Amino acid sequence: MKVSKFGGTSLATAEQVKKVCSILLSDPERQIVVVSAPGKRYKDDIKVTDLLIKCAQARLSGGSAADEIETIVDRYKEIATGLGLGCGIIDTIRNDLNMRINEDISDENQFLDLLKAAGEDNCAKLVAEYLISIGKKAVYVNPREAGLILSMDYGNARALPESYDNLKRLKDLDGIKVFPGFFGYSPEGKVVTFSRGGSDITGAILAAAVQADVYENFTDVDSVYVADPRIIENPKAIHELTYREMRELSYAGFWVLHEEALEPVYRTGIPVHIKNTNNVASPGTRIVTERKITNGPVAGIACEKGFCSINVSKYMMNREIGFGRKVLHMLEDEGISFEHMPSGIDNISILIKEAKFNEQVEERVFNRIRNELHVDDVHTQRSLSVIVVVGEGMAQTVGVAGRATTALARSNVNIEMMNQGASEVSMVFGIKAVDSEKAVRALYNEFFGQA
Ligand code: ASP
Repeated sequence: MKVSKFGGTSLATAEQVKKVCSILLSDPERQIVVVSAPGKRYKDDIKVTDLLIKCAQARLSGGSAADEIETIVDRYKEIATGLGLGCGIIDTIRNDLNMRINEDISDENQFLDLLKAAGEDNCAKLVAEYLISIGKKAVYVNPREAGLILSMDYGNARALPESYDNLKRLKDLDGIKVFPGFFGYSPEGKVVTFSRGGSDITGAILAAAVQADVYENFTDVDSVYVADPRIIENPKAIHELTYREMRELSYAGFWVLHEEALEPVYRTGIPVHIKNTNNVASPGTRIVTERKITNGPVAGIACEKGFCSINVSKYMMNREIGFGRKVLHMLEDEGISFEHMPSGIDNISILIKEAKFNEQVEERVFNRIRNELHVDDVHTQRSLSVIVVVGEGMAQTVGVAGRATTALARSNVNIEMMNQGASEVSMVFGIKAVDSEKAVRALYNEFFGQA
């Protein structure tokens, strides 16, 4: 059995929905389908999820949101009409939206999630309706009835363990099961969503729960590429990656798959196959437990802006037991997690997300570091990027770090920080954000030939 997830652009128009359904029907193994909300039809279009957020905001700021609701209904109407469906489904969708918009708004986050979830929920109903209209056996599955139970973290939920046992039962339902992505229910029965792009997570949870043979993730690109196509023109495609490689790449800005989507399938060893709805003939990218290293030590290069480093130095720091823990504890007290922490004998640098470290937080943390730890110096370096060079083959290859640093030096990119974990699956460089594109190009040329 395959679980197939389709992203927003694959469901943006009637033509796209027809493509999705013909892909589903071309393989009887495709028994469970997870859908996103309709996405952009063209470059400057607005995704249904973003329309729903606007709609919720209109109500929260005292408006009726009637116009916003009609705009969303029109998006579904355009699709339903193109699919030759009657007005029944549109009435269902309009009633659903009106019901949601009139719910209690005293908890804003709860209300926002209730609205956001409508995109996927109604899309799933529409796809099921279309499959039935063309004579196929299909059923819309409500996540509450199916038992997808999430933690009560609005906009950033995680699946609770019991979900997996509950969702196993999906296998017993007849026909193609159309499951809305992106949301589930808290143990108290409230609608809760994952973070943005979270339909990928729903697909992975379902695949793990039913022990699918493969989790297919259909999107609008042919494959994962070795570097960001916005920086490198026509970068090389990646046909196979390990979970660890994909995890490292998606951590640092590869947005093909949601960063959290690999966890459930990784634990159960279910392969993920990323494919293009608009070009099914293309081989796509497979994500697996292990792969043969055939294409050099480096699998991909990712780059993410928005970091800063806290640099602390103190003479004889290495002799002070618990120094690092105390600094990290101060960050913990501010709710900040650290990303990397390279150290020398008398200094440590802690790389964190810049958005979490504004000037007020900096002042509080620095006062504590100075007063409680009596350091010689503490300062922040802002506007940094993290470049991650990823590849399982690096562990067995001598000289990869040398090649990377030389390539960066040749392009006049100063390395502010370097870090390599024991797994050797990735090498991390902190550089000035202004150097990001130049650095990616330098590393691409070094490991994958001239761009
Ligand atoms: N529709 C949601 C979003 O735009 C979730 C998803 O597409 O995966 O973030």
